[in-house]
Amino acid sequence: MTTEPSFRESVDIMFNQAVKLMDLSPGLEEKIRVCNSTYTVRFGVRLRGKIHTFTGYRSVHSEQMEPVKGGIRFSMGVEQDEVEALAALMTYKCALVQAPFGGSKGGLHIDPREWDAHEMEMITRRFAYELIKRDLINPSQNVPAPDMGTGEREMAWIVDQYRRMNTTDINAAACVTGKPINAGGIQGRVEATGRGVQYALKEFCRYDEDKAKAGLTGTLKKKQVIVQGLGNVGYHAAKFVSEEDGANIVAVIERDGAVVNPDGLNIELLKEHIIMTGGVKDFMGGEYVEDGASVLEMDCDILIPAALEGVINLTNADRIKANLIIEAANGPITAGADQVLLKNGVVIIPDLYANAGGVTVSYFEWVKNLSHIRFGRMQRRQEESRHQLLLDELQRLSEDSSIKWQLSDKFKEKYLRGADELELVRSGLDDTMRDAYQSMRKVWHSRDDVPDLRTAAFLVSIERVAASYRSKGL
Ligand code: GLU
Repeated sequence: MTTEPSFRESVDIMFNQAVKLMDLSPGLEEKIRVCNSTYTVRFGVRLRGKIHTFTGYRSVHSEQMEPVKGGIRFSMGVEQDEVEALAALMTYKCALVQAPFGGSKGGLHIDPREWDAHEMEMITRRFAYELIKRDLINPSQNVPAPDMGTGEREMAWIVDQYRRMNTTDINAAACVTGKPINAGGIQGRVEATGRGVQYALKEFCRYDEDKAKAGLTGTLKKKQVIVQGLGNVGYHAAKFVSEEDGANIVAVIERDGAVVNPDGLNIELLKEHIIMTGGVKDFMGGEYVEDGASVLEMDCDILIPAALEGVINLTNADRIKANLIIEAANGPITAGADQVLLKNGVVIIPDLYANAGGVTVSYFEWVKNLSHIRFGRMQRRQEESRHQLLLDELQRLSEDSSIKWQLSDKFKEKYLRGADELELVRSGLDDTMRDAYQSMRKVWHSRDDVPDLRTAAFLVSIERVAASYRSKGL
């Protein structure tokens, strides 16, 4: 019987499969694969009348570019191997979408639901303090972001903690991304990973040849989609593809089971229900299925695993019926399952590409913080007045000519409006996702020895990381 590799082994196996097809100088392969360092900290916080000890990590996988980048996760699943695997994925992800960062990741072994907001603030600040004093949070060295169990609230505490400890650092806001707008964040960061999943799917759908490999045709309209995990990433991905592209979310799998509706679930209402009740049970808009895992194996066009790593593994891979899987989570498919799915003709859009929307918009936020000005502030009104000039001229020409025509008010309104920060962020994200997809598919289609998009993604990324090391004389 084949045994299942760990998450970290899975990442290494996938890396090795790609490296075999490359011609890297001896030793460079290992240099890229290994995690450079992991700092472990155990700290105590006095809460509820006694001292509680927490264990946290910050791993730096590669420093060929600095700062290094990657989220901080708060979960009971956090341990060193997991953090290192996630840090490695960050290296390849950043290289693939050309975000100029090395790879890093952090985690705190904690169940955030067990503590109230004030307690979480004390714990987060204390963890941040430990990392800041070792430059493991620093605008030019190591820039965390949200991940599972963390969000804008935690990032606001972290940036404030950094400011208290570095009162004269003019670039303090850039020490972490995913902050609330009033603490130096950027429009569109919260939705970014889910938005990136939508852009990735739309880009995939632009190529008939790629869709044919998954036995699909047409656009996202009416495609049957299953989403696993309605957290920040799954929720936004599901919302955008259903509300904007007409896809049918036929099932959502959550912690307490799944909810199924062949006509499509209303994601907004379902999310409200989850927030109110803590689960999908008793949601009126669909049928409840207690055994959530079985719903992963339901018939559908597209499966979006958007929660934990390893959910598609050797125990269920053979029964997955989706034609296309897009990995919105990090590492949801084990290396063993990957092979089974490939053999069964399932196309996988890999995590290092599919969920790179988050770090891409983090990059924009970091640049915004360093430039100390919001995107669009200088040019927006100038753009509008140039458009107005053109419209006035067209109007004058029409009045002078014998043919009378009129531009519609709707067109005028749309055309006149200069882009604000949110539009610029979305445009930059869309461009990034399209560009990265094209670089992967080029390799996928041009080489017979590249069986899938994941190998292609690793090839593109490793080649870029290797080039960066080579230019440093390694
Ligand atoms: N935690 C996210 C990820 O896994 C975002 C990282 C970032 O923005 O730095 O990609």
